[in-house]
Amino acid sequence: MRKVLMLILDGLGDRPCRGLGWLTPLQAAEIPSLDLMASKGLTGLLHPVDVGVPPGSDTGHLSIFGYDVVREYPGRGVLEALGEGVDLGQGVAFRANFATVKQVNGKLVVIDRRAGRISGEDAEELAKEIEEMDLLNGEVKAEFRHTLEHRGFLVLRGEGLHPEVTDADPHEVGYPVIEPQPLVSRAEKTAKALSEFLREAYMRLKDHEVNRRRESEGKPPANIVLPRGGSSKVSLESFQDRWGFRPAAVAAGPLYKGVARALGFDVYHPPGATGLPDSDFDAKVSKAIDLLEEYDFVFVHVKGTDTASHKRDPELKKRVIERVDLALERLVDPPEDLLIVVTGDHSTPSELGKHTGDPVPILFYGKGLRRDDVPNFDEMSVILGALGHLKGRDVMPLVLNLSDRALEYGLRPTSKALRYVPKASDLKPFRV
Ligand SMILES: [Zn+2]
Repeated sequence: MRKVLMLILDGLGDRPCRGLGWLTPLQAAEIPSLDLMASKGLTGLLHPVDVGVPPGSDTGHLSIFGYDVVREYPGRGVLEALGEGVDLGQGVAFRANFATVKQVNGKLVVIDRRAGRISGEDAEELAKEIEEMDLLNGEVKAEFRHTLEHRGFLVLRGEGLHPEVTDADPHEVGYPVIEPQPLVSRAEKTAKALSEFLREAYMRLKDHEVNRRRESEGKPPANIVLPRGGSSKVSLESFQDRWGFRPAAVAAGPLYKGVARALGFDVYHPPGATGLPDSDFDAKVSKAIDLLEEYDFVFVHVKGTDTASHKRDPELKKRVIERVDLALERLVDPPEDLLIVVTGDHSTPSELGKHTGDPVPILFYGKGLRRDDVPNFDEMSVILGALGHLKGRDVMPLVLNLSDRALEYGLRPTSKALRYVPKASDLKPFRV
């Protein structure tokens, strides 16, 4: 049986970019390690959720890990909170990013959903202003935490809260912030608390000295946070129970740590890993190789590719891919018992700056596996790959098969037919 190293480059897929001579960043990048793995491995195109569906990073990952996002998606907020190690208890959580709004006839119109990608001290200082709040006369406590760049999350705690409320975030610039509305009657209190939070956050942030300074420097003020993706405590079947692997994750971004924790992965954040394009990919790959001693499935997440895409910087994305490739050099001649999988959780075309439903390239590489004739790892070359078009739900069965863990079909009830079963030698003998 093989162990598995799965590398997910966030937002890896792209479209041809004018600035790169109509190549995608992956096509334009010098990536000898990934090209070698593609040329000696199996490749294809992956639709992480489904054909034409632009996945969020959370749904893209969950689907690749073999979870049905239509039935099992727990919502974004809880995953962000878990990523920061916050136990939600009976509370509800929301993803909540800093944004810039302008008051127009009493409405707050969003002019930058990321407040100029505010980060560092500015974000920390503003976050302090809204980190705790008493809402609805003290019946509900709000806790806001800043995470990475413009991102953060909000937790509401109190009796009778329910996560099914509308997003305050309109998801497009030029539109007003939306008054939170309950989607089910049990969520009325949550919607009221959220409205009060929005109003109070805007009042506390709009004239803050950090924002005044930002405005004088021509930067957008971070004068509100926009909650979305309400969710409550998660109870997903663990990855180990579903697929039989003992899993670990190497990640720096809070959402990815959260997804991994929600599935029962042990999460590692090596020094130098930042969750940004400047991350130390060498440190991440080294950590993953070390962890393969103890774990049999190691997931490595790289966020920099997606960040470069959202910044609409294909050249930066290309450089991130090249640095990742350099870190993979030591894996081009892998141990015989290792299966390497490389893919993305969705496409983020870097001249568009948002997620799309374009499929992403995927490769499976290991000694003694079949190979196809694809010489390069990129969106166009893998169209000719042996695996053709895959959907997210196909990935884990392929991983089980190529790591020699799949069970012959028919030996188990159909609903569990694909799941790994411990070897007889691992089980306790029946005694008389
Ligand atoms: Zn993503």
